[in-house]
Amino acid sequence: MKLFALAGNPNCGKTTLFNALTGSSAHVGNWPGVTVDKREGVYKDGGNYFKIVDLPGIYSLSPYTPEEVISRNFVLNEQVDGIINIVDATNLERNLYLTTQLLETDLPIIVALNMMDEVEKSGAVINVKALEAALGVPVVAISALKGNGIKELMKRAAALAEKRNGSTVLGGVFKAELDSARSFYKKAGVSSPLFHAVKLLEGDELELENSGAKAIYDELSLDCDAEAAIADERYKYITEKLAAAKIKSDSRTLTKSDKIDRILTHRVWAIPIFLAVMFFIFHLTFSENLFFLNGFTENHAWMPTLQELGLATDEGANNFGVEILAVFYDGAVFSPGVIFTNLLNLVLDRISDGVLTLMENGGAAEWATGLVGDGILGGIFAVMGFLPQILTLFLFFSILEDSGYMARIAFVLDRIFRRFGLSGRAFMPMIMGFGCSVPATVNTRTLSDEKERTATIRVIPFFSCGAKLPILTAVAGGIVAAFGVGNADVITYGMYVLGVCAAVVCVLLMRGTTLKGETPPFIMELPAYRMPSAKNLFLHLWDKAKHFVKKAFTIIFASTVIIWLFSHLNFNWKFLPDEQMNQSILASIGMFIQPLFTPLGFGVQLGQFGWVFAVAAITGLVAKENVIATFTTLALCIGAYAGEGTEEGVEELAGLINVISADTGIARGQFIAALLAFIAFNMTTIPCFAACATAKAELQKGKFKYTLLFWVAASFTIGAAVYTVGSWWWTLFIWIAAAAGVAVPVILRNTGKYDILKIFKRKKGGK
Ligand code: GDP
Ligand code: MG
Repeated sequence: MKLFALAGNPNCGKTTLFNALTGSSAHVGNWPGVTVDKREGVYKDGGNYFKIVDLPGIYSLSPYTPEEVISRNFVLNEQVDGIINIVDATNLERNLYLTTQLLETDLPIIVALNMMDEVEKSGAVINVKALEAALGVPVVAISALKGNGIKELMKRAAALAEKRNGSTVLGGVFKAELDSARSFYKKAGVSSPLFHAVKLLEGDELELENSGAKAIYDELSLDCDAEAAIADERYKYITEKLAAAKIKSDSRTLTKSDKIDRILTHRVWAIPIFLAVMFFIFHLTFSENLFFLNGFTENHAWMPTLQELGLATDEGANNFGVEILAVFYDGAVFSPGVIFTNLLNLVLDRISDGVLTLMENGGAAEWATGLVGDGILGGIFAVMGFLPQILTLFLFFSILEDSGYMARIAFVLDRIFRRFGLSGRAFMPMIMGFGCSVPATVNTRTLSDEKERTATIRVIPFFSCGAKLPILTAVAGGIVAAFGVGNADVITYGMYVLGVCAAVVCVLLMRGTTLKGETPPFIMELPAYRMPSAKNLFLHLWDKAKHFVKKAFTIIFASTVIIWLFSHLNFNWKFLPDEQMNQSILASIGMFIQPLFTPLGFGVQLGQFGWVFAVAAITGLVAKENVIATFTTLALCIGAYAGEGTEEGVEELAGLINVISADTGIARGQFIAALLAFIAFNMTTIPCFAACATAKAELQKGKFKYTLLFWVAASFTIGAAVYTVGSWWWTLFIWIAAAAGVAVPVILRNTGKYDILKIFKRKKGGK
């Protein structure tokens, strides 16, 4: 099987072509630095199979960044049958710089001139034949996105000769030096001697590691900055030869981008606009009161509920028509995210009702209906019910990413990030964290500074992932339903913001103490604004949905069954009915750990049912979806005998809240604060197994145990702060004083003059 590697600048469309060739759905984003590792796939043409490798984007073959090293090593050391050099045709000059370096190797090369659809739209014309002549290798015009020219590209790639002789565009510059270096490599039997010779003249670190080459280099004693001279020469060649290839160019599209940028990256307005955009997204995903048409709070509500209209009773809708209406409206117009959720829940409810009726009619035992209804269907369906909102949120995020907007925000935020010790580059992994911590943690490889990278990996879980979203929505919804306060979407957005603020504070602290260091400069090329491609968006969502459903029916399924069993068995392995759940094995364990959470408000305060919270938090360590699956399962059982909240979704939690309120008589404000602390705790504590394993693999040796410790400490501190300040607002001053107590010595120490630790030591020493 022939092996082809895709090489090219960041953001030139390598992954798009890779997906088109191999039918995979690797992440494509309008953002340089999405692909950080190589990826393999197979392309099939008739009976011929080709192995295709997608490489991280690179600007040159010099070993400056980890991506460049990965790509360079792959190109030079693997036995490839050809390099498909992808070139962004809308940005020919810069992209061909890498091409001129690839030409110096002996590898068979074919140039794929990508984004031709955009070139055509802009009115420019590129003479492919002239370019081919200037470069001396085949050039094929394609559009990876539209799928044009791909077959032709692969046909010509398959027909490439086995070996080429490297050619250079350097002309007569350094001719003598180049010849002697080249003959050295030739004699040494190295492949691509010309390439290595040029690199040696550039004073490339990797070449100088070879002592023979080092001797030659010293002997040549180049008296000028050869690297700069060579780069100049490459650009000169590119501009001269391009004049022949590029016939007419029109900068119409560019000015449009510039105009948009003038607003979206405005010095003052960029950040408020970004926050507003984010809020709008959350509103469209979570709001049960679209555009606040029904007033901002309950007190201002004026739209009648279905019950007030006489269309529904406590029991539910009067007929199927009203049930459908309730998907869209009940006392307020719902947002698209909520509408999709309602639709799905309508179906899921039918299914579980049907199954339970069947079982009851068939005379199934109580434990069996309990296990299936509360344990299996309750848990899995509760989690599944959040899929529409997760997908809605991701659709919006993907649009922002694919359009090129997110890349701008990284730039805008760089100014702010710098103040707390991160570069704008850290923004991408953080935003990815909203999806899933696992790829986000891997993506931190684009951060060249190890300390910056460690700090980023540690706070990534604070960017609440898709699996934590059900916790936020369900608890927020439970608060609104049980206490009739606030808006679910405002609470949800607020908790996301809290997570981001916590991340900022923690990074500041780490960069001031254990992870001190310079913040590397942030240089990134802004991608062009692009219309997000429907196919890309669909692929993103499909991937997410597949992953989520698979998890629901495997990990979550197993976990809920275990939870249900242990909540209905006592230590004598006797089956307990719902009413005696408090004597179960699970309850005993939960009650044992419950006091741990007392400072966070969901410990002993919540009385005999409070253990449910402790158990939910612990099951979340396996997978965060478990938190709500556990809740729902246990709340259904508690609700079943307490006679409350036996309906689907959010109501289960509201039911549990009502039961606990009645049981303990806890003050309303204090309970709300405890519930918010519960969200905050789950958001910032140790992430799921998968995320932990990834963090362990990506962190430097020995750093993982401190990272675990950090997560535990952070989540307890943040949870306690939310609970105490929410319950007794004046404790805010105590927290501020405590924060100052930490910050002031750190700042003094870092300014160098007043190291409190040293002053203290000196005093003790008596001097
Ligand atoms: P990579 O960084 O080189 O892997 O680039 P990606 O494959 O992630 O693509 C970067 C951006 O370019 C994405 O927004 C793609 O949708 C877009 N893109 C890729 N190929 C084409 C193309 O042929 N035409 C257009 N208009 N956009 C493309
Ligand atoms: Mg890529």
